[in-house]
Amino acid sequence: MSDRPIILWFRRDLRLADNPMLHEAARTGRPLIPVAILDPVAESWGAAARWRWGEGLSVFAKSLAQKGARLILRRGEARDILSQLVAETGAEAVWWSRTYDPDGRARDVAAKARLRANGTGARSFPGHLLFEPDAVTTGQGTGYKVFSAYWRAASRLDPGRPLPAPGVLVPPSGWPDSDDLSSWRLADALRAGEAVLRRNSAPGEPEALERLSDFLRSRAAAYAERRDFPAEDATSGLSEYLTYGEISPRTIWSETGKAGGNAKFLSEVGWREFAYHLLHHSPDMARDNWNRDWDRFPWRADNADAEAWRRGMTGEPFVDAALREMYVTGRMHNRARMVAASYLTKHLLTDWRVGLAWFADCLTDWDPAANALGWQWVAGSGPDAAPYFRVFNPVTQGEKFDPEGAYRHRWIAEGRKQPQEDALAFFEAAPKSWKIAPDARYPSRRIDPAEGRKRALDAYERWKALK
Ligand code: FAD
Repeated sequence: MSDRPIILWFRRDLRLADNPMLHEAARTGRPLIPVAILDPVAESWGAAARWRWGEGLSVFAKSLAQKGARLILRRGEARDILSQLVAETGAEAVWWSRTYDPDGRARDVAAKARLRANGTGARSFPGHLLFEPDAVTTGQGTGYKVFSAYWRAASRLDPGRPLPAPGVLVPPSGWPDSDDLSSWRLADALRAGEAVLRRNSAPGEPEALERLSDFLRSRAAAYAERRDFPAEDATSGLSEYLTYGEISPRTIWSETGKAGGNAKFLSEVGWREFAYHLLHHSPDMARDNWNRDWDRFPWRADNADAEAWRRGMTGEPFVDAALREMYVTGRMHNRARMVAASYLTKHLLTDWRVGLAWFADCLTDWDPAANALGWQWVAGSGPDAAPYFRVFNPVTQGEKFDPEGAYRHRWIAEGRKQPQEDALAFFEAAPKSWKIAPDARYPSRRIDPAEGRKRALDAYERWKALK
């Protein structure tokens, strides 16, 4: 058997357990060289996503070290770096787990072509999803456009059982040079202070597994009933771990299935699958209206109202709480995401791509498929979307899903004698140039909710007449 090493290129699969690529690689008994590359695709991610990926890499490097391996870090165009590493190490092949967003796919295709042209093996593995995006097809062999039908079909498939973490990994005869993670300066682009974000982040596979079991033990039973209340800790909080592959969806599926009675929770994991299914069939949906009729909708381009929205200064407390939560923690509750997105695209009549870009910059769980689907779902331009004329009222949404005002109190400092710690953290994190202070007056509304709703519906009627 050849003892030439295999290079394992890690991207969004920063875990030891249920990692099909790593499992298969360990089984070969060959020397393995794990590598992560800060390439133009990763450089193009938003500030919070890049930072969070770096935090994940740091934890994963420690997990690999316990198995006798190192995580080699390099920066540059992936196909060039991989070819260089092959030349330096005499590796026979490069393996990786697939990603499915258009930028990632284009990069991977180019890397595969270059490696193979040089006589190096290149092999990709599943693992980011329960089901490969093209594994679920309609009777006509096409993709699904409606979630309920998609999920009915997908749920009939068997994703298989999670794979165990490997034992000791065989090292190469010598390790290639590695960058120092700190030299990548992944925190530099963060507008929010790194210290604030770090206080709210606990990256890595061990934490992800602990979160899952804690959720199944103590919160899953009430999930369907409580998941819409942003002041409560009622959801799993697993999205950022799924984003960086610190836990596999198959592990979630299998552990949740064993616990039983969690169909609603599993169907939310199904929305993530559906998002990738759609992105696979419509790769442009991260940038363009999925339904191109919406190209003629009179959305406003970026504007002063949108800037107030980004800064959590719209004067609409539920919306501002949502934006501030994201700024401080890198996360936003799902109900709050829907209300904040509806407010931007409807009350403020602003193009969903303006909001998509801000979420992409601020979310530590930023996911190219789920973010695009979420925005197009709310805006009405996506498949199986909420109709545009269903405008969330930010006031009644607050009354219904934050009845005691606990979420708003947690995040809004202005006008309070004793603001909560999180509300103050927002001001600690915000750039000085925003010139905001917790003891200033809370901003007045950008637009009256009824007037905003009317303006949105008028625009919708004008657009319908154009169609
Ligand atoms: P739970 O309720 O515990 O759900 C479990 C898992 O299911 C989540 O971790 C997530 O992976 C998946 N999931 C749940 N809801 C959805 C959904 N609606 N669409 C796709 N997957 C879902 N999710 C992201 O992971 N990244 C994003 O960038 C993202 N952007 C969004 C933008 C908008 C405008 C909207 C409306 C939703 C967005 N979502 C995104 C979906 C959802 O808000 C988050 O996945 C969820 O809030 C994460 O919290 P949780 O892990 O506690 O979820």
